[in-house]
Amino acid sequence: MHCPFCRHPDSRVVDSREAEDGAAIRRRRSCPECGRRFTTVETASLSVLKRSGATEPFSRAKVVAGVRKACSGRPVGEDALAVLAQQVEETIRATGAAEVAAHEVGLAILPPLRDLDEVAYMRFASVYRAFDSLADFEAEILALRADQVLDEAAEAAFADASAVARFGGAHDPAPPPVHASFAAP
Ligand SMILES: [Zn+2]
Repeated sequence: MHCPFCRHPDSRVVDSREAEDGAAIRRRRSCPECGRRFTTVETASLSVLKRSGATEPFSRAKVVAGVRKACSGRPVGEDALAVLAQQVEETIRATGAAEVAAHEVGLAILPPLRDLDEVAYMRFASVYRAFDSLADFEAEILALRADQVLDEAAEAAFADASAVARFGGAHDPAPPPVHASFAAP
């Protein structure tokens, strides 16, 4: 690989280390001509096949850009978007395919976005799945509600189990007084 500073056609690897949990290799290189150092990142190639038939390298930045629009005005920070893009990439790489269709990237975005922010999820899903009627929104909201009921049931079951240990919360009646009698020695 040539030097990005002086275009010298060769460079020397001075350090290699795994990055991104083994999904990438980061190499520190040194140019024997100008002596400057630079870093290269090596990952398995992953292409996205667009509807036009063109392919382009998978880009987390593009995932973030697409999701950021749906998150406009929502309490979702850049860190959360970066984590989501990483999850999307991991999901796609886990399939082992070197090339995925653009709509598969969209599909991989939906579950983590739903966990992140339901309003952003609805916005993204409405565009991505081309909702064209209120009935589509209703069906999606019903599906979200059904999942919420399950989540709440699971939380309630957990709360019941932990209530024994907590012994009374803000809205619980005061525990009955405990009468203890001690026998005098
Ligand atoms: Zn150089």
